[in-house]
Amino acid sequence: MSRPIAAYISVAAMAANLQQVRARAASSRIWAVIKANAYGHGLASACEGFADADGLALIEFDHAARLRALGWNGPLLMLEGAFDAEDVRSAAHLNAALVVHSHHQVRWITAYRGPPLDLWIKVDTGMNRLGFATNELAAVYATLKPLSTVSRLSMMTHFADAEREGGTDRPLERFDQAAAGLQGWQSLANSGAVLCAPQTHRDWVRPGIMLYGATPMEHHSAADLGLRATMSLRSELIAVRQVQAGDGVGYGSTFVADRSMRLGIVACGYADGYPRRAPTGTPIEVDGVRTRTVGRVSMDMITVDLEPVPQAQVGASVELWGDRVPIDLVAAHAGTIGYELMCGLAPRVPVHIVRG
Ligand SMILES: *Cc1c(COP(=O)(O)O)cnc(C)c1O
Repeated sequence: MSRPIAAYISVAAMAANLQQVRARAASSRIWAVIKANAYGHGLASACEGFADADGLALIEFDHAARLRALGWNGPLLMLEGAFDAEDVRSAAHLNAALVVHSHHQVRWITAYRGPPLDLWIKVDTGMNRLGFATNELAAVYATLKPLSTVSRLSMMTHFADAEREGGTDRPLERFDQAAAGLQGWQSLANSGAVLCAPQTHRDWVRPGIMLYGATPMEHHSAADLGLRATMSLRSELIAVRQVQAGDGVGYGSTFVADRSMRLGIVACGYADGYPRRAPTGTPIEVDGVRTRTVGRVSMDMITVDLEPVPQAQVGASVELWGDRVPIDLVAAHAGTIGYELMCGLAPRVPVHIVRG
């Protein structure tokens, strides 16, 4: 028998979350962001779950080629653009739009000869990561617009603080000032802005995390936002034991029992993508009952308190995160965010696509 751990990806929940974006940004088109292997969900799941998206946005050129091979014929957007001059050619052949965020990319594009390119000029409105300064936008636009190798020119920015009240106000003002008078589509909103800043929705929104049923916000849960969990990480108890008061549990004996306790050993550890930093008390479900982890997460195992589930035996089902244990809750206990847990699902964990 194989190790009982597996991740279950609900394409129905992915599709339902996409509909939540539609409801909130009814007059915008949707780039479903599927970088990082669709936030750990896999490209095949993304093609199926986001079949109704207007386009798919990602970073990895090999993944763009795989999406075409999987039969995705719709728009693709490469969010970091070309990494070298050859990528410009690849984008044209894959019929994928390219973000242009720097002058070296403009040089590759002006030197390029081949089928026409669909370009999105990225403006930096305060993240200070990628993008042209707002006062450079008009000049870059004027350089690219007349090229016979450019079929369409659009504009975008990315917010650093979309979830914070008023966090998009200044960046939006900067963007609008820079883009004034320039024709073309605009795309500004990540999940946080889809949820919190309708004035930023414009022509195309670019949600990622909300499509995967997790929240970008500290004070609103995914369930509050009407989102459904899309990834459930499940395993089983592979051993059950009794410890006595004074017994330590796991590496470093960071947990010491203060009474006689029944514990379960779960086949899941940090080598599966479960965060090692999750402390004693991190929520977990055994046999459908919420309980807590105890002691350190090891490479292949976690220990759980079976006090609330006295009937649980070897083989009892365990949910690490998913429908019943919100991934955001586990992430918060481990001092991180749902994004990191999803993306960190380890290659050794078998992934099953669930339909319906
Ligand atoms: C990742 C990313 C998004 C999606 O962000 P979420 O917070 O997951 O919604 C949108 N735009 C760009 C440029 C990104 O890199």
